[in-house]
Amino acid sequence: MSQQLPANIPAALFNERADAIADAARELAQHGWTPATSSNFSMRVDADHAAITISGRDKGKLGRADIMLVDMQGKAVGTASRPSAETELHTQVYRRWPDVNAVLHTHSRTQSVASRLFAKDGVIKLEGWELQKAIRGHTTHEDVLDLPVFPNTQHMPELVAQVDAWIDGGKPLHAYLINGHGIYTWGRDMAEARRHLEALEFLLACELDLRRLTS
Ligand SMILES: [Zn+2]
Repeated sequence: MSQQLPANIPAALFNERADAIADAARELAQHGWTPATSSNFSMRVDADHAAITISGRDKGKLGRADIMLVDMQGKAVGTASRPSAETELHTQVYRRWPDVNAVLHTHSRTQSVASRLFAKDGVIKLEGWELQKAIRGHTTHEDVLDLPVFPNTQHMPELVAQVDAWIDGGKPLHAYLINGHGIYTWGRDMAEARRHLEALEFLLACELDLRRLTS
């Protein structure tokens, strides 16, 4: 427990966020969506800070000591711990949308396979599924829900730029896949982020089944 908090962040607030992250991570790990210490999770703490998982920890066994504070550029605050390599993708979402308070990133098998299958199209067009209505702002199965698939890279600024380009293109974004890697999604609170993640996992599995059964 070497996390020092800035004077304006009460310990109770940080602990509440850390516990919410650990609880969500444990349940998502039980689904098998966070293999081999992969995946990362965060919550906004205030306008300038987020709590995020420390790099390399088993996501099924997180406690408060596995969560750390970063600023909105993704730099560690008050700790020598190292945040996830992908922290910049979390803080990008918080900077872009002030009403977003939770970001989830998992590496499920379904997400990984779907990202490979649709990478050449750069997008998965979800259409005709009732569960699309689980995504904020979608009120009918008749909408088309675009889920972009970005090329993977270990160079985070490139990924950040791809996401920025999509948003700057004026298209709505509640989630994206990274090719061969996994999904990012978010919400106004942890419950909405979880709903988005579970719905998208289900929809991707349905799309894969359709291709298996109709090819
Ligand atoms: Zn990842």
